Amino acid sequence: MKILLVEDEKGLIITLTDRLASEGFDVVSAVDGKEGYDLASSESFDLIILDVMLPKKNGYDVCRDLRQKGVSTPILMLTAKGETIDKVLGLKLGADDYLTKPFEVIELLARVEALLRRSPGKADTAVNGAFRFGDIGIDFKKAEVTRNNTPVDLSAMEFRLLQFFIENRGTVHSRDDLLDAVWGYDAMPTTRTVDVHIAWLRQKLEENPRHPQFIQTVHGMGYKFVV
Ligand code: CA
Repeated sequence: MKILLVEDEKGLIITLTDRLASEGFDVVSAVDGKEGYDLASSESFDLIILDVMLPKKNGYDVCRDLRQKGVSTPILMLTAKGETIDKVLGLKLGADDYLTKPFEVIELLARVEALLRRSPGKADTAVNGAFRFGDIGIDFKKAEVTRNNTPVDLSAMEFRLLQFFIENRGTVHSRDDLLDAVWGYDAMPTTRTVDVHIAWLRQKLEENPRHPQFIQTVHGMGYKFVV
């Protein structure tokens, strides 16, 4: 997960970058609104943390211009204490959430997690209840998978793994992350279990399981689902 932090207070950049990095996020920072806007409109991020009071271009303008340009990355705005009107304005301009300074880092992390959970990939799957890729069709409500309109028999765990991949597509997941997310903390399987289930899923869903198009191996890191 890649986060863009647009903030002009050096101390806060260091604190937040350290903390977010220790939580496994990849953090890119910009120290003024113009740089932030340029980065956000030219690179892909999973989340933008955007201060309001910034040199060169304020956070509201950055937010509005990004939305106008069609950038739909979730935006968490940082506002100064007591700026109630500003919060409303921020949300109106397309921010997804706001946090008032000063804040506890743990509070920021909670907001970040919440925004990432309801990111677009996840939302449209939940709303439509269906997903298609290649010649595969999935009905999440019925937990049914078809290939060229012929039913594919998946185990419950294979289905959960596939659903997790789809909801978090484009992101690299380590074997440990997949174990935690799909099998759960209480389960006792090993990372080998993940590899075996992925091999089965590829067998059932990929045209050429030896050269998978959708469930890709990222060497030294894990797996990612790409459509
Ligand atoms: Ca500032």
